[in-house]
Parts: sequence; C-alpha cells; structure tokens
Amino acid sequence: MTNDYDLTAAIIKMDKDSFIPMSPEIVQTTSFYYDNYEDFLKITSDEKNSFVYTRGSNPTTKELEKMLAQLEGGEKAKVFGSGMGAISSTLFTLLEQGDHVLMLNTIYGTALSLGKYIDKFGVEIENINIEKPEEILEYIRPNTRAIYFESPSSQRFELLDLEKIAEIAQEHNAYTIMDATWASPIFQKPLAHSIDVVIHSLSKYVGGHSDLVGGVVIGSEEIVDDIFEHGHQLLGSTISPMNSWLAIRGLRTLPVRMKHHDYSVRKFLDAIKDDERIHQIFHPYVADDYQQELAEKYLTGYGSLFSLEFVDEDFDKLKKFVNRLEYFAIGVSWGGFESLVLPSYKGNNIEKLNYRGFKKSHIRLYIGLEAPDTLINDFKTALDEVYGKLEK
Ligand SMILES: *Cc1c(COP(=O)(O)O)cnc(C)c1O
Repeated sequence: MTNDYDLTAAIIKMDKDSFIPMSPEIVQTTSFYYDNYEDFLKITSDEKNSFVYTRGSNPTTKELEKMLAQLEGGEKAKVFGSGMGAISSTLFTLLEQGDHVLMLNTIYGTALSLGKYIDKFGVEIENINIEKPEEILEYIRPNTRAIYFESPSSQRFELLDLEKIAEIAQEHNAYTIMDATWASPIFQKPLAHSIDVVIHSLSKYVGGHSDLVGGVVIGSEEIVDDIFEHGHQLLGSTISPMNSWLAIRGLRTLPVRMKHHDYSVRKFLDAIKDDERIHQIFHPYVADDYQQELAEKYLTGYGSLFSLEFVDEDFDKLKKFVNRLEYFAIGVSWGGFESLVLPSYKGNNIEKLNYRGFKKSHIRLYIGLEAPDTLINDFKTALDEVYGKLEK
C-alpha cells in the first residue's frame, strides 16, 4: 500500500504535451535528472551545451542567451549573475600572469577596482586617457594581452573609434573587450566593428525595471565557451532562472523603451544645452564634431545617461538642487523607469574628482521613461530656485 510519504515524495513530471504556455517557463530547479545512467554520462560530458546543474546552465537562461547573442550579432552568449560577474569572469579567463592590459578612459568604478586588485596575480592593468586611437600605440607593450574599454565611457561619456582600436589590437595580438552597457544591444553593435568580446550589465536597460541584477558576455563560440568553462564555472557568478525570465521580459520591450529614451534625452538636452548656469554637459549628442562623427558611425540612437557640471560649485547649493528635484530619485544604478540624479562629490572625495578632471558640481543624470516635458520643468524649476533665474 502506498503511504502519504511515498505519494508526496514521487518525482513530479508535468504532462508537457497537454499545454503550451504563452510566457516562457521559469525552470526553477537546481539540477536535472535522467532516465538512465547512460544518459547521465552522455549529458554531463558536455555541460556547456546541456542541462546538468543550474550553476552552469538552465533552460530559461539559455533562451535569454540565445536572444542576446542574436541581438548582438554574436555566435554565442553567456549570462552571469551580474555585470561585474561577466567582467571578472572574462578577465580571469583571458589573462595570465605577466600580462599587461590597457583600460581606456573612464571605466566603471568597480571594474577599475578589479583592474587594480588583480595586480596581486601578476597582471598589470594600466588606465590611460586617450582621445584618438593612435595614442594607444605609445602604451602598447609586447605583453599587452587585452584592451578594455567602454564607449561611451562612464561619467565623461566619450566615444572611441571601435574599428581603429580593433585594428591596433589585432596587429598586436591583443583582445578587445568592450563594455557596451550605455547604448544597450539596440543602439550599438560592437561585434560588427571587429570587437572580440562585448559585455553588458543586464541590470540597466535590458532588465529595464530596476528589479534584476545580471550580466552577459557575447562573442565567438570559442571565447565564450572558454569564459563559460573557466570564468563562469569556477567563479560561480550564476543568474537565477527567475532573473533570466525577467531579463527576457525586459528584452521584449527594449527596442520600444530605447526609442523613447533616445527621444527624451535629446529633447531634454536641447532644453538645457545653452543654459548659462551649466558649465558643461557630457553626452555625445552635445559633444564636439569628432565625437559626433563617431556617434554617426557607431550609434543608431542615444542612451539617456549623461552628466553635467554647474558653473557654481557650492556644495550646499548642489545638495539643495538635488533634494529639490521631484522626479529625479537620488540613487545608484540606472536603466529602469525612474529618472535619477547622482552627484559625484560626496564632501570627502576631492582627489577622486581631480583624478577624473571633474568639478565639485559634477552630477550624473538618468532620463527615465516619464514624459520629457515633466522632467524638463522639474529640472528648470530646481535650477531657478537654487541657482537663480536667468535674466532675460
Ligand atoms: C552597472 C554597470 C556595470 C556593472 O554591472 P552590475 O550588473 O551592476 O554588476 C558595468 N559597467 C557599466 C557601464 C555599468 O553601468
């Protein structure tokens, strides 16, 4: 006779032939099982391309990887538990003791910290500032193994000439690794311009709703498999099936959202670009001719993250301004619905600002999905109240 223990302990097998869900399934499981030991032996011999344990691969995550690889025009993609997981796994896999890496311009802060930290493994990371690709030549060494950069860069939002950088790297047998989070996979396709490895934080535009953390590496099958086997498997930066599902949902609306961000940020910048209370705006749309040429060549739309500096550097006024904004939340990260504001100056980090060449009045703004006119009014009202009205 079967008892209650036996009944509740039976392995659950859903009747997969009786339904087809509209929404993809969240395969919320740690591991997978097999009908016989021969199947187990066969499947576990190729963990990259089969399902054994969710720390490695999961069907929901696999669907997300296929979508991201296609969108980016890459052979293969591997999704990670965070953008930093993708970055650290890539560097961990592709670099060896004695290697030299060039990090160009303003890199995402935590990635730069990683670069400094891996010094202890005998990998030297050099952060240099360049405008034109030829300037790299001066810093290239025989052991330069990779050129790592963002385009546009964090905080200064300066674009680089991808094709020229790829050409220089190829001539010197170095990988090009590009963090392309700012433009999302919609507005920029670095692999089409000969970049070897593209990285995105999925926590930003792809997720799009401030509710998931994830990252992805996209490139040739050979490189991505290597990063899977060594970076992903050994460091264990695994995304949950639920977060992969949220990222798939984010991808469904990504093109539509990016179109609005592009429209909104241009409208916002048009409204403030000639304001005399603003010293400088850092965004390709309002940058110099060379930057606009690069934007024309490499971007099909604009991301909505940028920064600016006020003429007046008073810290109390800056605090008042940021607090006065109604529609810009004070917070880190970006890419969700809500517009955001974040000053660079914290009252005690002036060296950091000097290193990056910023004024104390440097703030980062993210234009979310609200109506652009509402955001423009909000920004201008705060400007008038804190920095004084313009005389006209
Ligand atoms: C947020 C961000 C990262 C880090 O991604 P996480 O998902 O937060 O780990 C890396 N690069 C850029 C440009 C980012 O904006």
